[in-house]
Amino acid sequence: MLQYQTIPVTPFQQNCSLVWCDQTMDAAVIDPGGDLDVLLAAVKKLGLNLKAIWLTHAHIDHAGGTGELAERLQLPIIGPHEGDQFWIDGLPQQSAMFGFPPAKAFTPTRWLHDGDTVSIGNEALNVRHCPGHTPGHVVFHAPQAKRAFVGDVLFAGSIGRTDFPQGNHQQLIDSITQRLWPMGDDTVFIPGHGPESTFGQERRSNPFVGGT
Ligand SMILES: [Zn+2]
Ligand SMILES: [Zn+2]
Repeated sequence: MLQYQTIPVTPFQQNCSLVWCDQTMDAAVIDPGGDLDVLLAAVKKLGLNLKAIWLTHAHIDHAGGTGELAERLQLPIIGPHEGDQFWIDGLPQQSAMFGFPPAKAFTPTRWLHDGDTVSIGNEALNVRHCPGHTPGHVVFHAPQAKRAFVGDVLFAGSIGRTDFPQGNHQQLIDSITQRLWPMGDDTVFIPGHGPESTFGQERRSNPFVGGT
């Protein structure tokens, strides 16, 4: 079964998640935005073999620690979708603007596309392309565990901002209703910030996408 632990990192309290296969203890880290020492201490404490970095999108609080972590541990960088190339190119400016430590440049080992699969140990997760917050945003769905790691697409009671360059409100709504809702009302999602919720709960009560 897929296991995970979520660790808020950076001044933005971004929900970085360690995900692992409990048969092999092989692990991936989703969105290592920063605080690498905290993340690596958790990896050690849990007894995990960290094998890969998976990115939902390339905002600084999600991707800021990626270059350094990949270099330190020689890890492949999987994702996001190539629509976020301009956000990756802009990481040095993003880190200066928000007072983050300088972000190391990086090139993803593998871009992700809608319908792709990523695997860790004996576990596989499905990739959905969910543009709107950023053009290259992806989410990771574990159907058996009924979990989805959705980055800044959807939050408990809210949705991602769309006022950034190449943000698109209608595209975000379509991503949520056409690509997240079909995962099922009982699926628990781990958002980029704040508490977990279920898609069913958001369909009932989220003021931005409730009733859809
Ligand atoms: Zn974001
Ligand atoms: Zn974020």
